[in-house]
This record gives sequence, C-alpha cells and structure tokens, in this order.
Amino acid sequence: MYDPATGKVQAQVDLASVAEVHEVVASANVAAVEWAESSLTQRTQIMFRFRELLAARTDELARVISSEHGKVVSDAAGEVARGLENVEFACGIAHHLKGEINEQVSAGIEVYSLRQPLGVVAGITPFNFPAMVPAWMFATAIACGNAFICKPSERDPSASMLIAEWFIEAGLPPGVFSVVNGDKEAVDALIDHEDIAAISFVGSTPIASYVYERATSAGKRVQALGGAKNHMLVLPDADIEMAADAAVSAAYGSAGERCMAVSALVAVGSAADQLVEAISKRIPDVKIGVGTEPDAEMGPLITSEHRDRVAGYVERAQQAGAVAVVDGSTADLPANGFFYGPTLLDKVTADMECYQDEIFGPVLSVVRVETFREAMDLINSNPFGNGTAIFTRDGGVARQFQHEVQVGMVGINVPIPVPVAYHSFGGWKASLFGDTHMYGPEGVRFYTRAKAVTARWPDPASSQIDLGFPQNS
Ligand code: NAD
Repeated sequence: MYDPATGKVQAQVDLASVAEVHEVVASANVAAVEWAESSLTQRTQIMFRFRELLAARTDELARVISSEHGKVVSDAAGEVARGLENVEFACGIAHHLKGEINEQVSAGIEVYSLRQPLGVVAGITPFNFPAMVPAWMFATAIACGNAFICKPSERDPSASMLIAEWFIEAGLPPGVFSVVNGDKEAVDALIDHEDIAAISFVGSTPIASYVYERATSAGKRVQALGGAKNHMLVLPDADIEMAADAAVSAAYGSAGERCMAVSALVAVGSAADQLVEAISKRIPDVKIGVGTEPDAEMGPLITSEHRDRVAGYVERAQQAGAVAVVDGSTADLPANGFFYGPTLLDKVTADMECYQDEIFGPVLSVVRVETFREAMDLINSNPFGNGTAIFTRDGGVARQFQHEVQVGMVGINVPIPVPVAYHSFGGWKASLFGDTHMYGPEGVRFYTRAKAVTARWPDPASSQIDLGFPQNS
C-alpha cells in the first residue's frame, strides 16, 4: 500500500484466503443469531456510544484516511461527517422498524407486518470513501439486527479496521462487525458463501455488474452501485460566478475521485465562453499539496498507474480535437507522489473517449450545446445516471429538468447532491444494479425482510369447524 503523497510503500496488506474468509463468516454467523435477538434498546445504546466515539475521533480518522487515500484532511473530515449522519440515522432505527397493523380486517382478526434481520450481510467498498461508504452500509445493517462483514478496498483499509475497534469499545459483541481484507478472491468467497444473505457493493461499473450477476445467481439480495459520469448543466441565465465556483469545487475536490464529482459541464449558448473563462481563472488558485498541509485543497491520485491513466485521457482528448484550456500535466506539482493538476478541456463532443469514460481524476470536460433540449438529450442518452445538477435562475426550467432527467440524484444550483442520511442514495442505469438504493429508508428495507402475521384471539365459545377458504368480512 502506497502513500500517494510521496509515492513510497507505507504498509503491506495481508489478503485473506478463501479459508480465512470462511472463518470470518463462521464467527459472524454465530454472532448474528444472538444479535438478531438483542433488544432495540441495546442496539440503540451501542449505536449512540459508537456515534460519540466516531464524532470525538473524526480528526484521527481523517488523518488516517488522508495518509492512505491522499485526499486532504479537511475533505476526509467531511467524509467522516457524512458517514456520521448514517450512524445518527441508525440511532433512531426503532422508528424505522415499526411495523404496520390493521385491526379488525375481519371479525376479530388483526393483520400486522414485521421487519426482521437477514442474518449475515457483507459490504464490498471502494477506495475513494474508505469511511463514508462502509458507513452507508454497516450503520443500518447492524442497527437492523444483522452481522456485517466489510471488505474494504485493499488500497486504504485502515479506516474500517479502526471503526471495527471502536465498535467493540462501544460494546458491540464480537463478530457483529468484522473486516476482511482481500481482493477478488475474498470478494468471490463472500459472494459464494451460502451463509451470507445479502451483498452491498460500491465500486466501478464493470465490477458492480459482475458482483450483481454472480451474487444474484447465488440467490442473494444485492445492491451494487457503480461508476458515474455526472453532468452539470448551466443555462445562460445562471449566476455564472456561482456556477464556476461550484464546477471547480465539484470537479477538482478529492482530485475528482468522487462518484458524485462533476466531470461533464454542459454549457448552453452564451454560458460556455463565460464559464470557461471564469473556471480557468480559478484553477491556478487551487492549492495542490500533501493532505496534511493545512492549506492544501487537492491531494494526489491514488496510484501512479491511475495518474498515468488520467494523463493518457487528457493527451488523447487533445488528439481527438478537444482544447486543453488548462492542462494538468503542466501544473506546478509537488516533486513526489501521484499528483496531477486540475484540467479543463473545452470543445469536447459526445463521441470523444474523454466524455464517454469515467476518468475519475481532476478533469472537467466542457460540452457546448445550443439549447436546453439538446442538453437534456445528451444527459439522458448517457449510459450512467448517478448524479446531475442544473444551474439556472428559472424555476420552471429547473422543475422540468428535475422531472425529465434520467438520473437518480439531482441538484438544483447544488453541484454534489448526495442525499442526507434519512433519504437514500443511488443512481439509475449503469450506476446501480439492483432494486434498492443505499442507506436511509431503502437501506432499512434492504437489510430486513417482511413478515405479515394474521392473528385471531377468538372467544373459545365461538369456535366452529369451517372448511371454506378464509374470507374477510
Ligand atoms: P473497484 O470496482 O476497482 O473496487 C471496488 C471493490 O471491488 C474493492 O473492494 C475491490 O477490492 C473489489 N474488486 C476489484 N476488482 C474486483 C474483481 N475483479 N472482482 C471482485 N472484486 C473486485 O472500484 P475503486 O477503484 O475502488 O473505486 C472507484 C469506483 O467506484 C469509481 O468507478 C466510482 O465511480 C465508484 N464509486 C461509486 C459510488 C456510487 O455510489 N455509485 C461511490 C463511490 C465510488
């Protein structure tokens, strides 16, 4: 495992064998039985204690994330804060596990529905949010009464290891939250294990699709979130200065390694020239540096291979006819580490590779269109549908955008519309395989299954034999 800010190897990660994965599942399976019987009061009290530990140790966790991922400490602290929201949601789980009841559906008969835990569930998470994405899963899964196994990215696994320790400190019984480090072999062993009831996955689209296919074939419940190409549409009536600030923040924050990063700026008519000028003026002020430097705003990319991949996209985009208004390869960068500067590509067209692929780096492509309709057609024909945003002062057009756009998360003058923990997170099309979005109310549904009870407590004096099919009356 590298320190992306220096390029040096900083630790070795032991990757679990199939036998080791099986051991972890076996202990989770034992823990799950008892945990499913724990009271809501016990679960809630543990979750509140864990919430306090996580809140108090945000800075410690943010520094660990920064040292392995490379993102700046303030950004990592923001990630922890958003993960904390999921833990806070889970503190109120009792409210979300209330069943429903109909009294007197028939004379003397009640019908009520319950939601019960699944047993052992696993989460496979990406490198780019080593604390927040696991929290999208574990907080709800555990509060609903499941044992949760986390398989973090092998590139930055320490955040989930720390979280596991802090859960024990908060009083969570051993085996209810486990971490297994590994690669494809460990993932396949989790997917194929018959004692695992559900798989949550977040990562790139090819792997999401693979995990979805394999795990559903194995009879599991699956939610697999994939990659993205997030468009920000700017109309000529928008506040251009505000839109430029938003584009710079959303394209270059975390060096573009966010699934909700804006990577395609769709500029309508006269907005294009103004935006390109406003953004290119702001880029030299983005402070690039090691994540622990107090004023650094953007850190390195995760590996040298990934940095080279991003550079390759920028080179080929220019060969294809895009204009590099700002070229990250010529930026003034720290001498070591996997840094790449913010890049602004203008005159990008929909047939170019840099538009079609998720680059996952600090590269913003400007696609110029003439009309709102042209912009909508572009966005809706993109295979991804994770996040999108519109910048305008026109409420009617914003309403139309929100209604027609084929994307799961929509911002109106908000560039990174990650829903709060009491809504749910998820894209459409190639950005999500499965039926439920992650965390919030849909997370509760994912990590529980429904049971409907029809009950009668008859007066023994009224008992009689009736061989007819039961009817409601
Ligand atoms: P990745 O797909 O390479 O890895 C994700 C996880 O899958 C890791 O735990 C990894 O160990 C495992 N994995 C990798 N290759 C595998 C294989 N062949 N078989 C089985 N498991 C395998 O993704 P990444 O590079 O860690 O993360 C970046 C990607 O994640 C981007 O595409 C980004 O858009 C996406 N992402 C999506 C969301 C979302 O909410 N939709 C959120 C964060 C990240």
